[in-house]
Amino acid sequence: MNIHEYQAKELFQHYGVPVPAGHCAQDTSDFASALSSLPEGVTVVKSQIHAGGRGKGTFKDGFKGGVKLAKSKEEAAEFGRKMLGNTLVTHQTGPEGRKVGTVYFTEASEIEKEYYLAIVMDRATSRPVVIASTEGGVEIEKVAEETPEKITRVVIDPTLGLRAHQARQIAFGLGFRGDQVKQMIKLLNGLYRLFWEKDASLVEVNPLITTPSGDVVALDAKVGFDDNALFRHPDIVAYRDLNEEDPKEVEASKANLNYIALDGNIACMVNGAGLAMATMDIIQHYGGSPANFLDVGGGADAEQVTQAFQIILKDENVKGILVNIFGGIMKCDVIATGILEAAKAVHLDRPLVVRLEGTNVEQGKKLLDQSNLKIVSADTLADAAKKIVELVADR
Ligand code: GDP
Ligand code: MG
Repeated sequence: MNIHEYQAKELFQHYGVPVPAGHCAQDTSDFASALSSLPEGVTVVKSQIHAGGRGKGTFKDGFKGGVKLAKSKEEAAEFGRKMLGNTLVTHQTGPEGRKVGTVYFTEASEIEKEYYLAIVMDRATSRPVVIASTEGGVEIEKVAEETPEKITRVVIDPTLGLRAHQARQIAFGLGFRGDQVKQMIKLLNGLYRLFWEKDASLVEVNPLITTPSGDVVALDAKVGFDDNALFRHPDIVAYRDLNEEDPKEVEASKANLNYIALDGNIACMVNGAGLAMATMDIIQHYGGSPANFLDVGGGADAEQVTQAFQIILKDENVKGILVNIFGGIMKCDVIATGILEAAKAVHLDRPLVVRLEGTNVEQGKKLLDQSNLKIVSADTLADAAKKIVELVADR
């Protein structure tokens, strides 16, 4: 799960990490009060979306910049009005962009130098790793490719936490001296505690800045969390912004279905993540393109299958459906019942190919045959994929 910059900065403050003062607003009528407690003069106006690259982004109506420096509060409010409700496209949003529902006003900082700082879970070592670079404000992927020597990596032993010498190594690696080293150590300890205590998968500060007066400040903030640990962090779950998620995926997660929307036109309904991936591969192999990943799980009931159908049919790109069930714990007749119920509940106007195998397969096939639905049955996965690709190509 991801959160907004203003929420991440709330957490930063809680952990003693310095951030510029700021207030957010979800409605233009709240702009005046959000701006009132900020100092006069230059104000930063920041679109809150779950994607980076906002500064260089462009809105759908041509307005440039999802992060803007305003000379006055009046101008800040004007920028805010242009951003709110507008759709921002950045290199991370894809061409469809993201609608801005919250604008964050912050006091402007003077920048002496921009740095990059992140803590991520490194899957190779199964340990948190701190990544720091003197090249801030730039995509870290680019720095890693072109000037890897400018990146300091420090692997943390989770049983020991961030050690004092490691924090000093990072601060010195960025070229900090004197008091800035002290500030940096405090900041690193705060970020590491946040990362660890809140089960984050990523804490990123890009840019981390130094000011002409010598302060070290987190100018941007991005935090992602491990979904599997959210159950023990109700305070983090409260930050969830469903507007940032695909509505089909939100509905699927409520129904306990593992669903991910893709951009093809053949919807798939499969039990088991591995089989779902194999199904997507074989659709692709026969020249088709999957519209989603959907694992209904091993113990789905008829109601969940109905919900799954409703969700995949909401995708307007879907031209056909492939159901591939290997019955084990999941029984083929349950799936068949679900398909029939779903077909009744939703107007099934697109070709449906069903491949059932395993527990209760005969009962399942019988149920489907006895219905007067136009269902194409298939015996093998290859046969099923070929059939749905052909049916979709004709439409
Ligand atoms: P991002 O584009 O989504 O990563 O958004 P950021 O919060 O990182 O802002 C983009 C860029 O705007 C930063 O890299 C800075 O160069 C600039 N910026 C943001 N806030 C300030 C500020 O307070 N003062 C100045 N001078 N520049 C800022
Ligand atoms: Mg940034």
